Amino acid sequence: MVTSKIPHATAKRLPIYYRYLHFLADAGKKRVSSTELADAVKVDSATIRRDFSYFGALGKRGYGYDVENLLAFFKKTLNQDQLTNVALIGVGNLGHALLNYNFHQSNNVRISAAFDINQDITGTIQSSVPVYDMSDMKEQLTVQQIEIVILTVPSTVAQAVTDELVAVGIKGILNFTPLRITVPSTVRVQNVDLTNELQTLIYFLNKFGVEDEQT
Ligand code: ATP
Repeated sequence: MVTSKIPHATAKRLPIYYRYLHFLADAGKKRVSSTELADAVKVDSATIRRDFSYFGALGKRGYGYDVENLLAFFKKTLNQDQLTNVALIGVGNLGHALLNYNFHQSNNVRISAAFDINQDITGTIQSSVPVYDMSDMKEQLTVQQIEIVILTVPSTVAQAVTDELVAVGIKGILNFTPLRITVPSTVRVQNVDLTNELQTLIYFLNKFGVEDEQT
């Protein structure tokens, strides 16, 4: 099974497929066609067939895809058969919201530790997650085998905190700060800039309305 050469765009769609397949399996559905999938996840069926082709012949003509097989396959590919612990750095407003968000409900991911410098909050448990001081970060990340963090610190300290994270061996950062952080090539960053997304939406709505083709 060749999974190392999956295009980035395909990889980004895998969680979408996974979530919907989970829904189908829960509803007791045994098979699904690429057209049905396309309607549900809003990705055209040719793209779906191409995406799936990267994993070998998973579908049969006239039969569609076996939901259980496909689900088991995606579970493995997305590491969903094992629980992934992630940490959150910066328990401010956004950090709190993410601590409250139930990642675990549909995905095998949970925030198992949070870190902050504010002594009013360190040493407490927020939304069932312990908040440690930054000085305990290296130890906790090692003990809990955490390689991924969610970054919700103020942008003024985002790079300094990133440097600390890199120094303790973090492999992936989900960056919610507006700052484009600099990391070595051994670390992967996903940016989630909510303000930027909202501004882009407003811009497109003002300029083009809702009729035009969306890309
Ligand atoms: P936001 O909505 O962006 O979270 P906020 O006003 O609640 O905003 P910020 O000032 O953005 O809070 O700070 C977010 C959190 O990051 C705070 O809890 C703050 O104590 C924490 N923080 C600030 N500096 C650092 C740092 N160097 N390391 C870790 N946490 C930090």
